[in-house]
Amino acid sequence: MDSTKEVLHGIANFSADISPSFPYVNAELGGWDYDRTNQVLLLKLSDGKWITLHPHKIAIRGIKDLEEAQALLDWIKGQINDIYARRESITPRYASQAGLKVMEILKLTPMTNCKACGYATCMAYAAALREGEVSLADCPPLWEEKFREKREKLQAYLDSFGWRALDAD
Ligand code: SF4
Repeated sequence: MDSTKEVLHGIANFSADISPSFPYVNAELGGWDYDRTNQVLLLKLSDGKWITLHPHKIAIRGIKDLEEAQALLDWIKGQINDIYARRESITPRYASQAGLKVMEILKLTPMTNCKACGYATCMAYAAALREGEVSLADCPPLWEEKFREKREKLQAYLDSFGWRALDAD
């Protein structure tokens, strides 16, 4: 634990290789980025915290103190054990949200910069959508009949990367 910096980092090391659980954890918890070659799974939490899973290590970024680090470590270890025990009923997921391109998302928005979503531009909305900070429901014009085709294509594009909102279960 490095408590000398404003943003604290916590690390736990294991002798066991936990990487066989990663495709199942990625499926159940919605990993932000999954590097299959190096077996690194990055989980983005909704409150600015990140958990990085390596074969023999769990790293946590953005925690306040030791107590929070321990609680998060206990939580993710419990999740890994539970998910791996249920793996036969889970479809492994190898895609990750980090592959989504903002420009591809932008092309599928109405591109009117109407601001109804709360963002000044469709580009800003597209960037937030990629991060999982907003959903398709936050762009009202997208639900108009004239944009139905765009909406369906955008939904399919997001689905192909296993997109999910940050606060999704
Ligand atoms: S509500 Fe939709 S169309 Fe309007 S600015 Fe936001 S993303 Fe663009």
